[in-house]
Amino acid sequence: MNFEEIRRLDAAYGAETFARFPIALAGGKGATLTDSEGRTYIDFGAGIGVNIFGVNDEEWKQAVVEQLNCIQHTSNLYYSEPQAKLMQLLCERTGARRVFFGNSGAEANECALKAARKYSSDRYGAGRAKIVTLKGSFHGRTLFTLTATGQEEFHRDFGPFVPEVDYAEANMQDMRRVADESTCAIMIECVQGEGGVRALDKNFVAALGDFCRARDILLICDEVQCGMGRTGTFCAYEQYGISPDIVTLSKGIAGGLPLGACLFFEKTEHVYTPGTHGSTFGGNPVSCAGAYSVISRLNGDMLLEVQAKSEYLRAKLRGFDGVQAVTGLGMMIGLRTDKDASAVAGECLRRGLLVLTAHGYVRLLPPLSITKREMDEGLTILREVLA
Ligand SMILES: *Cc1c(COP(=O)(O)O)cnc(C)c1O
Repeated sequence: MNFEEIRRLDAAYGAETFARFPIALAGGKGATLTDSEGRTYIDFGAGIGVNIFGVNDEEWKQAVVEQLNCIQHTSNLYYSEPQAKLMQLLCERTGARRVFFGNSGAEANECALKAARKYSSDRYGAGRAKIVTLKGSFHGRTLFTLTATGQEEFHRDFGPFVPEVDYAEANMQDMRRVADESTCAIMIECVQGEGGVRALDKNFVAALGDFCRARDILLICDEVQCGMGRTGTFCAYEQYGISPDIVTLSKGIAGGLPLGACLFFEKTEHVYTPGTHGSTFGGNPVSCAGAYSVISRLNGDMLLEVQAKSEYLRAKLRGFDGVQAVTGLGMMIGLRTDKDASAVAGECLRRGLLVLTAHGYVRLLPPLSITKREMDEGLTILREVLA
């Protein structure tokens, strides 16, 4: 199909939820993509931080195809080797005790929020169900995670919302005001993604960790966007010196297949019991096989490579005309620009570079495996567009 045919069908039959860029990606290799018309693009978006080893990666494909040749789905009524191996790998990498698998970031967060309420209910009874999140946060599109998302613009028209959810500014003074004795959990993104690529202040996060521990308030780190090596460590919270009680992962976890994971640490490891939570597709064996391949390769050397690429990109970007600030952490990069961010993204696309935006910022989430040549090609386009 050519692009106009694809666009016509989408316009006629798709729920009108997406304001899409006017291309249909069809293939590629690494961080170089091709569209339905055969045009090529450098990819600084990775499908919103999902394709962390780019597209068409041989090792990942081999792991996925090997599993497809065995069995594509079993249901969680039965044990599953790909799941069991992945659970072990995730726990060994993070120090978590137990893992629940869903299919998306929203489901991982939904699982975390439900777990927080159950932890509190088991231990303290009713009246301690409040969840506190940060203003500017993004946690997903299900009603609970949408409620937890601290941005008014996402809430319009969807009320009434889940009760007992409140929002604080990212400082301890406001947090103390909002997080009272009825609070069971505080959920943060150490680096806010959709909220404008904002790395939280280290002193604030450290103080928040102490605050939570002293009150038995669970600390949940939503690492759906900032996890999976994106910031140069396996999870971003490692750079903040905190010990969360629950961590959620998704986006890059399976290298492009749908998977979400909710990781339970010491305090929360026994919260769920048989029948109290579940999923039909969660922990699909093909997704788990892809995730195992990706996480095995996200080792110390790979993380050093991410740190080096991050420094390279940031040094270049700071020197560009039209860039007011470079934000975020590692290869999760925000740019405050003279020009309007959406206009920048549109112009980059026309010149063969895919970038994202977030809350008025240009947002870059390149595949972690992007090559020097691909980075340089993308940077050249970006420099011309921004100037
Ligand atoms: C993308 C995102 C989500 C939602 O993930 P979905 O897979 O779209 O449900 C949740 N939290 C953060 C931080 C995200 O970036």
